[in-house]
Amino acid sequence: MAIRTELTRRDFLKLSAGSTAALGLLLFKFPNFEKLFAAKVAEVPVIWFHAGSCNGCSVSILNSLSPRIQDVLVNQVVPGNHISLRFHPTVMAASGELAMKAIEDTARMKGSYVLIIEGAVSSKDKGIYCEVGEKNGQGVPALEQVIALGRDAMAVIALGACGYGGIPGAAPNTTGCKGVREILTENGVKTPVINLPGCPPHPDWFVGTVATVLIGGLGAVTLDDMGRPTAFYGKLIHDNCPRRAYFDQGKFAQKHSEPYCMFELGCKGPVTYSDCPTRMWNSGTNWCVGASSPCIGCCHPGFPDKVAPFRRVEQLESLTPPSWYPPIEKEKTQLKEAKGINPGLAAGIGAAAGIAAGAVGVAVAKRGAKPKEKPDKKAGD
Ligand code: SF4
Ligand code: SF4
Repeated sequence: MAIRTELTRRDFLKLSAGSTAALGLLLFKFPNFEKLFAAKVAEVPVIWFHAGSCNGCSVSILNSLSPRIQDVLVNQVVPGNHISLRFHPTVMAASGELAMKAIEDTARMKGSYVLIIEGAVSSKDKGIYCEVGEKNGQGVPALEQVIALGRDAMAVIALGACGYGGIPGAAPNTTGCKGVREILTENGVKTPVINLPGCPPHPDWFVGTVATVLIGGLGAVTLDDMGRPTAFYGKLIHDNCPRRAYFDQGKFAQKHSEPYCMFELGCKGPVTYSDCPTRMWNSGTNWCVGASSPCIGCCHPGFPDKVAPFRRVEQLESLTPPSWYPPIEKEKTQLKEAKGINPGLAAGIGAAAGIAAGAVGVAVAKRGAKPKEKPDKKAGD
């Protein structure tokens, strides 16, 4: 192709400074392509780097199929808006000083770039246990970059369960890992932080949030008190689970192969908020409970420590079924005495409530724990 002969090594390295190089580099040399962008499309610069993480969030999001990740990164996410991914260590072709320069150049665009941090931030010993590059022969701690870049960003997206501290922040946490919002708050940075937890997060949660920001600005994203967009994390998994009827009837699986409610196998659906049961994964193919695996609460703040051990049966205090949930005839004979499940207690509660028959949630009236939530707020508040 003639286009390749026009690329000098220098051209190549320059273009490779952004991840778009890896995903659609040659497009930039097509006639009129740059003009098209310059004339009609607003660019939102993005710096995306990995702190304490396994890169799994990137892998998940790069698997976005609708829209395809090429469309997200190279074309317009929404009409008139284009992400300009300046730095992403996994997919960018640039390395060394050229890569670090991409961060520096973008950082000068104060207040106009989005900072995406994948993973937890190591804070112990000035963050020396997690470095994101070198400058003048010295390692640059992620801690330093998060604070400096976070201060001047338009918004920060903390990606993955580790954005709350997650697995790197789990006990004994020898490197002092903390969540992104915690680190920024401790250092007086007031830039809005959007948390997109999950291990990994669903591609739609990321693309949907970015598209919403591009269309309506930060104020268009409604967050819960943990900084999560309510559009994706607003509903209790348990309320939308196809096995919920078994829970209300007291039919609990004792083995993964049984088709009943997996509460006694440690399912964290009654305490975890996300739309996994309705959105499902791999382009709507399936989700954890659908694959006979209890939810392990990967979107729950404090994961994994707060929901560990994964096999532990959650002690629930109250559980109110959604008003739209169809009532189910409770079969007392199927209610079992096991791990926190007490048929006598359940029946008593049902009678006291006057809902002995057709009582949704009777068996669990003293076992559900719905985290108290503060009023929603806008991302830019
Ligand atoms: S405990 Fe888990 S498997 Fe059972 S209904 Fe709730 S979310 Fe579904
Ligand atoms: S169902 Fe639970 S463990 Fe599975 S992805 Fe959703 S929040 Fe994570």
